[in-house]
Amino acid sequence: MRFPWRPLALCCSAPGRRASSSSVPEGIQSFVPASSTIDAHALEQLQAFLSRATRLFVVTGAGLSTESGIPDYRSEGVGLYARTDRRPMQYAEYIRSAKSRQRYWARNYMGWPQFSSHQPNSAHLALQQWEEQGKVHWLVTQNVDALHSKAGHQGLTELHGCAHRVLCLGCGAVSPREDLQKRFKALNPSWGAQAGGVAPDGDVFIEDEQVLHFRVPSCKDCGGILKPEVTFFGDTVNRRTVQFVHERLAESDAVLVAGSSLQVYSGYRFLLAAAEQKIPVAILNIGSTRADHLAEFRVSARCGEVLSVIQPH
Ligand SMILES: [Zn+2]
Repeated sequence: MRFPWRPLALCCSAPGRRASSSSVPEGIQSFVPASSTIDAHALEQLQAFLSRATRLFVVTGAGLSTESGIPDYRSEGVGLYARTDRRPMQYAEYIRSAKSRQRYWARNYMGWPQFSSHQPNSAHLALQQWEEQGKVHWLVTQNVDALHSKAGHQGLTELHGCAHRVLCLGCGAVSPREDLQKRFKALNPSWGAQAGGVAPDGDVFIEDEQVLHFRVPSCKDCGGILKPEVTFFGDTVNRRTVQFVHERLAESDAVLVAGSSLQVYSGYRFLLAAAEQKIPVAILNIGSTRADHLAEFRVSARCGEVLSVIQPH
C-alpha cells in the first residue's frame, strides 16, 4: 500500500521529542529533495530491522543535514550540482595555489556565521537517543557540519573531518575554526561582501574582485598553511581512521545508511565490507544509492520524519 507521507507523519509524530519531527522550516525545505509518498511496508520493514539490531552501525551523509538547512551536492534538482556550476575545492589546487586558498577562505569566512549556526534536526536527535538507549554501536558520518556532535552523539567518526576545526599543514596543530574567524575579522576589518548561498562545506559565492583584498592568516606557531580539518575532494581519508571504523563495523550486527547516496568510495567501502561479513543493511535515502544492491531494502523518505517516528526496542 502507498499513501501520502504527510498524513502519516502527522498521525505518527511522537510527542515529547526534543525537536519538531514533521515540520521543516520555510526556506530549508528548498534543500530537501522531493519525496511525496512512502511505502508503508518499507517503513514496517525498517522498524522490524532496527528492532532486531542490537549493535547498529550507522552511516550518514548530506541527506541527513538538508533538513537542518544545509544543501547537499548531489540531490536531483535541489543539490548544489543541479543548481549551480560550482564544484567543491580540490585538495591539489588548495595546496598549490595561494590564490585558491584566498578565494576559499574569503567565501568560507562569509559563510561561517550561517554555516556554524545550523542546528541538529530530528534525525540527529533520534540517532543520539538510540545511542543513549544502547541501540547504536557506532556512527560514521560523511558530513563536516558537526551536527551529530551538537546533538550529543558520542560514538562518532567524522570520516571527512569537521569544518569546525582547522589544521596547520606545517606543524599539525588543530585549533577551533571559531578562533580563526576572529583572526580573519582582525585582519580584514573593513572587508565585506554579500554572501549568496552556502555550500555543504561552508563555501559561499563572492565576486572575484572582492576576494583579491581578503587577507589570510597563517599558523601562529610555525607560519604554516591553515586548512579546514576537512577531507577535500582528491584528498584521502586517514588510513588509521578507516581501519578504526572497519573494526567498529565488525563488532556490529546491522547497518543503517541514512541520507547518503554513497557515491563517494570512502563511505561506500564500509557497505562493501558489511556485505562481505554478511551484516544486513537497510538504506534510508531519497533517491537511489550506490549500495542499493547490497541492501535488504531501501526506504525513500526524509530521514528526520522517518527516524523520529521509529521506536527501535
Ligand atoms: Zn603550524
